Amino acid sequence: MLRTRDGCEKISLKLFTSVWSESFGKKLAIREPTGHAMCQICCRHKHILKSLSGDRLGRQCQMQMYSAHLKRQYEDRCLYWQARAASRMNAITADSTQQVCCIVDGMDHSKFRYPRSLAMLSKEYDFLQRPHLNMHAILAHGHMCLLSLADITVPKDASFCVELLSHCLHCISDRLDLRVTRLLVQCDNTCRELKNNCTLRAMSQWVANSRLWNCELRCLQKGHSHEDVDAFFANVAVTVEKYNELHRPCNFQEILQQYLDGGARRHEPLKRVVQVDEVRDWSTFLNVAFDGAHLKGIGGPGAPHTFLLERFCDTGLSRDVIDNKFWSKVRKEPEHPCDVVLRTGFSLFVGSDVLKLLIVLLILQIYIYRAKHICRQSSKVNNACVYPP
Ligand SMILES: [Zn+2]
Repeated sequence: MLRTRDGCEKISLKLFTSVWSESFGKKLAIREPTGHAMCQICCRHKHILKSLSGDRLGRQCQMQMYSAHLKRQYEDRCLYWQARAASRMNAITADSTQQVCCIVDGMDHSKFRYPRSLAMLSKEYDFLQRPHLNMHAILAHGHMCLLSLADITVPKDASFCVELLSHCLHCISDRLDLRVTRLLVQCDNTCRELKNNCTLRAMSQWVANSRLWNCELRCLQKGHSHEDVDAFFANVAVTVEKYNELHRPCNFQEILQQYLDGGARRHEPLKRVVQVDEVRDWSTFLNVAFDGAHLKGIGGPGAPHTFLLERFCDTGLSRDVIDNKFWSKVRKEPEHPCDVVLRTGFSLFVGSDVLKLLIVLLILQIYIYRAKHICRQSSKVNNACVYPP
């Protein structure tokens, strides 16, 4: 037992852990410390709290700020879990639309070095560097699990992610009508590839073309971005570890497909492992299609975490609440009801909380995007393929 400065008795963490694991460990285990990098804000709060051990009031104030930070990241996760559940249940909302929630992440490539063979343990191969495959996953909850294996020569950039998302949408378009689908893309730890102009332009294009009802990109806070997809990667790593002889990239593809077909990811009926050799240059194409329009302030400290793209006619907003900064720069006026409005907020808002929603609307930085060379006749759109013609 420990004694505090004001005379109270308390037990040590070590004693608590040992008693808990002895009595309740089989029912609810305490997670071991994680190997992931710690969030910089949490790290700062913890150090300050440690240095304030003799100051009860200061410690209380600091603890309040730390709790607010933890609450905020937890609320972000709750929104993701809520969307994941709705996506798995194929829930239809009041306006007859359906939500598909995808999470995108890349896996550590150390497990995908090839050729993978026991012979490589020999001293003779010590000086040789083996190439690796980059593995990315898209879990479209309730619909599809897509794994991609790409050679090291294929750049891991925005075009690559747009290609994967397009392929995933193309596959699931056989199962549901994308025109009444709200797509939510949750970025786990791939902000560099997803939170950029190229991806937002691609999403705008899908919405402007009525390929999707609307599209939202959400990013988890830095350092708190480890979600269910990382647990899935841990299982993938265990699967790869079981095989000693994998000599070519296609061998990795085969064993991963076997793993998925063997009962993994039971919520997703469609499971596919693809090998990517080359991707389209989406970045250049979309830059030309959007007439060089560029959105600033979406990355770096203080940047928003959520981007919702929807057609102007679906927002129910009047034109005078739209921020016209974007249009004044390109010397044009928004004119078509299918022009896409981008809403950004600095934190996510809870759906039914009308007051909160109104406050968020007031602080929105709203811009309008319009795809210049893209057909807007929504009634004629064929949703069988999301690639541009
Ligand atoms: Zn933190």
